[in-house]
Amino acid sequence: AMFENLTDRLDSVFKKLRGHGKLTEENIQDAMREVRVALLEADVNYKVVKEFIAAVTEKAVGREVLSSLSPGQQVIKVVHDELVELLGSHEEPLRLDGRQPVSIMLAGLQGSGKTTTAGKLARMLREKGRKPFLVPADVYRPAAIQQLHVLGEQVGVPVFDSTTEDRPVDIAKRAVAEAEDKGYDTVIIDTAGRLHVDEALMTELKDISRAVPLTEILFVADAMTGQDAVTVADKFNSDLEITGVVLTKIEGDARGGAALSVKKVTGKPIKFVGVGESLDALEVFHPDRAASRILGMGDVLSLIEKAEKVVDQKKARKLARKLQKNTFTLEDFLDQIQQIKKMGNLEQLMDMIPGINKLKQLKDAPKPDERELIKTEAIIRSMTKKERANHKIINASRRQRIAKGSGTTVAEVNRVLKSYTMMLKMMKKFRGKPVVRGGKRRKL
Ligand code: GDP
Repeated sequence: AMFENLTDRLDSVFKKLRGHGKLTEENIQDAMREVRVALLEADVNYKVVKEFIAAVTEKAVGREVLSSLSPGQQVIKVVHDELVELLGSHEEPLRLDGRQPVSIMLAGLQGSGKTTTAGKLARMLREKGRKPFLVPADVYRPAAIQQLHVLGEQVGVPVFDSTTEDRPVDIAKRAVAEAEDKGYDTVIIDTAGRLHVDEALMTELKDISRAVPLTEILFVADAMTGQDAVTVADKFNSDLEITGVVLTKIEGDARGGAALSVKKVTGKPIKFVGVGESLDALEVFHPDRAASRILGMGDVLSLIEKAEKVVDQKKARKLARKLQKNTFTLEDFLDQIQQIKKMGNLEQLMDMIPGINKLKQLKDAPKPDERELIKTEAIIRSMTKKERANHKIINASRRQRIAKGSGTTVAEVNRVLKSYTMMLKMMKKFRGKPVVRGGKRRKL
């Protein structure tokens, strides 16, 4: 899953720090040495790592003792804040205002996910009430033009009629004119890719950027290619002046090297991430949420946003409040399970829950499969109201009764209680920290 290896590595570093009542400069230095190795193994650019470690060390050593946090937590907090900074500090929305139509060009190597991203972006913008227009300008592969027509059909967005006989720059010019004519407000230009950076391609892209007023040039890269993605992004940026980056296939990127380096190296923000092959698998990139995920704090906000789309709004808000106030009972756990069941793709959703990484490492970790969820649900349903409100009263005889009532075993009941208390612990640990910036949501 996303950033999984890095999360595991950092977690074991911080576990050691937690044992200390007080941290010495030496403890911090030791920890930072390990963080450094973890980042390098995650394929983060070495210069970026060096600066990162220097910044964290300085802040962690010079830190005043905050009574609400243990020394170990304080170091985690510093690392979290620096990660947010590294990832771009704040969300960078698409520029969609000013003279209409606006034009967005997608550029990148072949196979990076440009065409798919064009379709996803069109879908997302249409949902926001805009009128996108998809423009196939990859004239070297007839299949690419065809692919965009298919995607346009699927998302209900018109596609410019281009052929392999046309020159890309003419396609762009004619498409923008047609958009003006027909009242489309967002032109999305899908361009050709090559296997490697190549001068002919750069010239072609530069020609397009001179021929039509582009508000965005988004560089699309496959996150799994790590530092290679960053090197290519840097090259595109110096030739083309990109305005932002889209990292695709990030759901499978266990290391995170590209995500953590590209902003520092190019100076250009990650605007979107691709999290799957389906057309709804594109997300606005939130540096703070990503940092929380990397540190195994989960991504509660994204989870809630997803929940809000599919489920009962009132319940989702209640859940959000409980998570923030740490009054999360077994009853809420049950609610959450039911919502998760409605939302599909369990593995991905589970990753958003705080502390889930820890749970996965337990020997009897609950697997995110439907049957497990149903069992968990049955177990919680066999508890009394009192038990659901206060898990501490669930003693051995109650456990036996619950197992019997749910047709499971005491071991299975224990496992559910253990996942629940682990979750509580995780939330408590991060309480009071600005991990989740409450409620503020910017528009796309
Ligand atoms: P292009 O050559 O740059 O236009 O790349 P495509 O859009 O054709 O994508 C190449 C492959 O990557 C296709 O199989 C896509 O389904 C896949 N792909 C694109 N974005 C994502 C993503 O975010 N996650 C995953 N898993 N696959 C993706």
